Amino acid sequence: MANKLALLNLSRIELKELIIGWGEPAYRVEQIETWLYKRHITDVSQMSNLPKTLRQRLVDECLADPLKLAVSLDSTDGRTRKALFALPDGQEIEAVLMRYDKRQTLCISTQAGCAMDCPFCATGQMGFRRNLSAGEIVAQVLYYARQLDREEKRVANIVFMGMGEPLANYAETWRAIRRMNDSTGFNLGARHMTVSTVGLVPAIRRMSREPEQVGLAVSLHAPTDDLRDKIVPLNRRYPLAMLMQVIRDYIDATNRRVTFEYALMDNINDSDTHADQFAGLVQGLLCHINLIPLNPTPNSPWSGSPDERVLAFRDRLQAAGVPTTIRLRRGIDIAAGCGQLRNAHSQQK
Ligand code: SAH
Repeated sequence: MANKLALLNLSRIELKELIIGWGEPAYRVEQIETWLYKRHITDVSQMSNLPKTLRQRLVDECLADPLKLAVSLDSTDGRTRKALFALPDGQEIEAVLMRYDKRQTLCISTQAGCAMDCPFCATGQMGFRRNLSAGEIVAQVLYYARQLDREEKRVANIVFMGMGEPLANYAETWRAIRRMNDSTGFNLGARHMTVSTVGLVPAIRRMSREPEQVGLAVSLHAPTDDLRDKIVPLNRRYPLAMLMQVIRDYIDATNRRVTFEYALMDNINDSDTHADQFAGLVQGLLCHINLIPLNPTPNSPWSGSPDERVLAFRDRLQAAGVPTTIRLRRGIDIAAGCGQLRNAHSQQK
């Protein structure tokens, strides 16, 4: 198993090289791509228009689906589902399906664990295990796409907001984005994908030069360096002045609206003064603020702000002219909310 070639890791060109290299006609490449990315079938035995010998070779030499479903949970609202997958080396990751009236959004993981160490986030609390490969990222999307097919529904949006820091696994995340964006494959518009980051400045700069128009969300959580150093430890390396400069450059280069995520923590970052400082920081920027009342996690030193505070904070930002919305809380009963993803092993502790 360890030496098998991971099929979903391959770009279009690499897949073509492989199949042509096996002496197969070029149209087989298209057939395989259609099974994988349009029909979302990763079980090679179901690829009925391929000759038996080719199917056998794929089974023998390739790993078509790196994910094994370990647990699937549905929230009581019936609109949020979380899947926990085991990877071939035993690592575990989670991915979430959120159903809205017309669109279905997937929240997927880019790393097993996370090295960013944000104390309020369950993934941060478990520490870093390893980067996911592009194929392991793509497979999470195909898993849910397959489920939605049965309901004649489609994946409308993908947010890279599951476990891990996507920009710390830049190459594989981008490979996965290209795979999902490829018009001969999954064909999801780049504008329907959003990468969320704690603020890796050099990687944001790199992102501004990519041709794909992927959305950028920045987990800000605090409007001053003193406070942000505690809440998002990476701030000590890339303080707010640097972060805000790269975001301004990003907007200038791409002309795209940036989202700022801000988790409201009771008596920590949720005062009127914080709201005013935040408004000052983003004044004049093409941006949108997404407020999230902090979700509970086992070892968080902080707790979520009360509803009245959340509303007052939003109103104050809006009064200052900053477009602000409150993110719907979803899947809290199955620990599928923002920052609640971690693996089953640590859940048993
Ligand atoms: N590492 C990236 C991607 C993860 S996205 C990032 O941090 O942006 C997960 C989002 O949920 C981030 O905005 C994160 O700050 C937020 N989050 C983490 N823990 C949370 C919690 N307990 N309650 C609410 N939001 C949380």
